[in-house]
Amino acid sequence: MDRQLLSLEDPEIVVRATDSIDDMVKVIQTLVEKGYAYASEGSIYFRVAAFRNYGQLTRIDLTGIRDGARIDSDKYDKNNARDFALWKAPKEGEPFWQTPVGPGRPGWHIECSVMSMKYLGETFDIHSGGVDLIFPHHENEIAQSEAATGKPFVRYWLHAEHLIVNGEKMSKSLGNFYTLRDLVTRGYKPSAIRYLLAAVPYRRHLNFTFEGLHQAQQSIERLRNFRLRLGQESFPEGENAVLQDRARAALREFEAAMDDNLNTAEGLGAVFAMVRDANTAIDRGEFRAGDRGAFLDTLERWERIFAVLEDNDSARLRQFGLGLETPVVAGIPPSVTAPGGVEAALPGNGHGSTPPPGLLTDEEIGRSIAERDEMRRKGNYARADEIRQSLQKAGVILEDSKAGTRWKRK
Ligand SMILES: [Zn+2]
Repeated sequence: MDRQLLSLEDPEIVVRATDSIDDMVKVIQTLVEKGYAYASEGSIYFRVAAFRNYGQLTRIDLTGIRDGARIDSDKYDKNNARDFALWKAPKEGEPFWQTPVGPGRPGWHIECSVMSMKYLGETFDIHSGGVDLIFPHHENEIAQSEAATGKPFVRYWLHAEHLIVNGEKMSKSLGNFYTLRDLVTRGYKPSAIRYLLAAVPYRRHLNFTFEGLHQAQQSIERLRNFRLRLGQESFPEGENAVLQDRARAALREFEAAMDDNLNTAEGLGAVFAMVRDANTAIDRGEFRAGDRGAFLDTLERWERIFAVLEDNDSARLRQFGLGLETPVVAGIPPSVTAPGGVEAALPGNGHGSTPPPGLLTDEEIGRSIAERDEMRRKGNYARADEIRQSLQKAGVILEDSKAGTRWKRK
């Protein structure tokens, strides 16, 4: 559910370590045969001294770690403090498997190496994780994988910095620990949460605050309003080459920022600067009908990554029973409100169901607005404009606001 609320893609493959025990055992056997691993009291350890490149990822000098000192919690006998367990002898009360290397269970590091190589190949492009996993986990993954295959394991490591909350580490004891559900229950939109999390490049600390979340919501509104403005306002025919260049330059800046190790903050900056310039140009009457495409293209390209412009938060929350708004009746989204904020066209709410003859009923208006919303979502701004105009001819004025579309009779 959290993934869907935040518009995250589902993984193509979801793996279970327990489905790959045989594969892990095979890699461990290979490491023993090649002299990179040894058995001791029913467990099997990786011999770090045998792997020359150990420490390449961490770039720290590990010679200072004295033999006999403990650097992890493995309570087994090892030849060297740096050696780590590939296979752990059975322990009272822990699950174990009967395998060709004896009874026991795999170490954590080998699980990751074997499962990733099984599905992605012996060498793959990107391995990610939190910065706390660089040492020893990822260092050990490299050592055991490359020792087993003789090939490079991973081409790029992406390590994300930790999230902090109000300048402090997130922890249960501090009570500054929020789940996605906590946030949406407090009325924050999933799109704003997604935006906030994506707006800070992954290698920087993201300081989560409610103020930041509020600002994220406003930033999204600004972009959505700009897109609506492009679709709804009528501009003089023709083109303004300078403006179109501006839109294309913003796209190039955005892409360059993303190519720079996913510098999302700079990428956002490029698009907001473009929106500011375009709004100024519209206000000054310099914008032409033919310029729409270039700006919509840049926004569309941006949206393919940020995915926050589509106004579907309420629908998604309702899908999971989290919507706080009035339920939808007769296909009319809750964003459609009559003057005064009263829900429009709901049967039995005692208003508007008997308009003077010849006028559209509230229900008809609601349906038209819903259709117009649908057209705007699909990018069919021409049809959306037609609907707006025909409502206008019927004496109904629409007002788009942050809270949704309001209408009033002339
Ligand atoms: Zn891992």
